[in-house]
Amino acid sequence: MSKNPFKLTRFEIGGLSGSNCYLLVDSETNDGYIFDPGFDDPRLYDFIKDNKINLKKILLTHGHYDHIGAVQKLKDLTGAEVVISKKDAKYLENPDLNLSNFSGNIIELEPADVLVEDGDKINLKDDYNLTVLETPGHTPGSICFLGDGYMISGDLIFQDSIGRTDFEEGNYPDMVNSLKRIMQLPDSTLILPGHGEITSIEREKRYNPFLKSL
Ligand SMILES: [Zn+2]
Repeated sequence: MSKNPFKLTRFEIGGLSGSNCYLLVDSETNDGYIFDPGFDDPRLYDFIKDNKINLKKILLTHGHYDHIGAVQKLKDLTGAEVVISKKDAKYLENPDLNLSNFSGNIIELEPADVLVEDGDKINLKDDYNLTVLETPGHTPGSICFLGDGYMISGDLIFQDSIGRTDFEEGNYPDMVNSLKRIMQLPDSTLILPGHGEITSIEREKRYNPFLKSL
């Protein structure tokens, strides 16, 4: 395998209660893949435009409003495909489920272009793939995108915390199983969460109080 050409940029968007949006760009082709563009933040559009990024896919870890708020605009601007799990697909069109009814800015999106499930591979380039891991609990269709040594994990786990399961369709027993599943990954795996700082499996095994009682 040649040297990994992908560069990762993290955007903290949406202010204090905001979320992380990640952008992977192939430095050889400028093809881009954006994850969880949760808020309509001009920095996202400017970055893509200024760096002449060909946005290929908009990948969603789950369907909550703070992870999907810029999807429609990015799709309109770039023509990128929207990817979400089969089980969270309905969230895009349903403001009660995506919680935008409570955010003051109703989100009702078109159906996604690609629906994925556990084990699916998302090809970025040549033999560079992301693997879809179904990690339900926060929502039924919450997924992680597992790359080479890192995972984009949405609202499954955070530094010293875990995702909420008290929303409609949240399920704590599922969350426990999902957390146990990702703890099987190599300790060095970086966790790129939906909120807060980037961490690792090793760090969370050691310090995350929610994992101690599993
Ligand atoms: Zn969420």
